Amino acid sequence: MTQFISVIGYPLKHSVSPDFQQAALDFYKLDIQYKARETKAEDLPSTIAELKQPQNLGANITIPYKETILHLVDEIDDFASLIGAVNTVVNRDGRLIGLNTDASGFLKALHEDAKFEPENKRVVILGAGGAARAVSLALLHEKVSFLTIANRTPAKAESLAAYLVKRATNKMNTEIAAVPWQNSKLTESIKQCQLIVNCTTLGMKCSPEEGQSPLASSLIPKDALVYDLVYNPSETPLLRIAKEAGANTIGGLAMLIYQGAASFKLWTGREAPLDIMFEAARQALLRIGG
Ligand code: NAP
Repeated sequence: MTQFISVIGYPLKHSVSPDFQQAALDFYKLDIQYKARETKAEDLPSTIAELKQPQNLGANITIPYKETILHLVDEIDDFASLIGAVNTVVNRDGRLIGLNTDASGFLKALHEDAKFEPENKRVVILGAGGAARAVSLALLHEKVSFLTIANRTPAKAESLAAYLVKRATNKMNTEIAAVPWQNSKLTESIKQCQLIVNCTTLGMKCSPEEGQSPLASSLIPKDALVYDLVYNPSETPLLRIAKEAGANTIGGLAMLIYQGAASFKLWTGREAPLDIMFEAARQALLRIGG
C-alpha cells in the first residue's frame, strides 16, 4: 500500500519541501508519496483529521498554521509545547502527535553552516510568529546575552518577550526586550547586535511581501551575521543589502533542509540523505525562479 506524507499550509506555491522530501524517500526506494496540500483555514480541521487514516504517515505544517495546529492534534511533545508551535505531525496508530523540528534545524545551520556561536551574543529577532518562537527559545537555551524582539503587531512581540522571561533561568543570564517595529529603539538594538534573524515573511516569493526587506541597508552593522529564515528566493532583499553592507549572511535553505531531515527521521526512522535533499531543493528553487 502506498503511504503518504503532506505539507499543509496556505499558500504553498513557494514550498520546495515536496521536492526534497520526495527525493529522500526515492533514495531509499520507499513506497511513500510526499504531497503539497494547500489548505484554506476553514478546511484545516478536516484535512488534519484525514491524517489519522493508516495510509498517512504524517505531515509538515507551515505558515500560517503552526500555532493553530496545537488545538487539532491528540498530543504535543514537550519541546513543541514549550515553543508553542508545531511544524511536524506524526500519525502513531491513529493518534496525531505534534512536534517541532524548526528550533533544532535553525541551530544546526547557525553552528555548522554559519559557524556562529550564539553564547553571550546580542541578538535581534524580527517577527513574533511560529518561527520566531522556535528561534527565540533556541537562542535562549544557547545563553545569548540580549534578545530583542520587534514585530509589526507590537502586542505579539511583547507577549513573546514575556513568555521568554518566564522560561529564562538565572543560569541563562539573558536580557529580553520587546521593541516597537521600525522605531529608534530597534535601530539602537540593531547597532549593538551581532546576530539579526528575520522571522517575518518579508521578502518571501509568492507572498504579498515579495521584494520587501524588513531593514534598510544603512541599519545593518558590517560585523553582524544576518540570518534570513526565508529561503525562496535564495537571495532575499534583506540578504542582498546585508551583503552590500559587508555583513555575513545565511539564508533559510540550510535550516529548511535540517528541519526537514529531522521530520523525515520521525516519519521513516531513517537518517535523511542530506546531500540529496540539498540538491533537490536547489534544483526546485532554480525551476521556480528562487
Ligand atoms: P507566521 O507565524 O505566519 O508569522 C509571520 C510573521 O511575519 C509575523 O511576525 C508577522 O507579523 C510578520 N509579517 C507578515 N507580514 C508582514 C509585513 N508586511 N510587515 C512586517 N511583518 C510582517 O509565520 P512563521 O511560520 O513564523 O514563518 C515566518 C517566515 O519564516 C516565513 O517566511 C517562513 O517561510 C520562514 N520559515 C522558514 C523556515 C526554514 O526552515 N527556513 C522555517 C520556518 C519558517 P504580525 O504578527 O504583525 O502579523
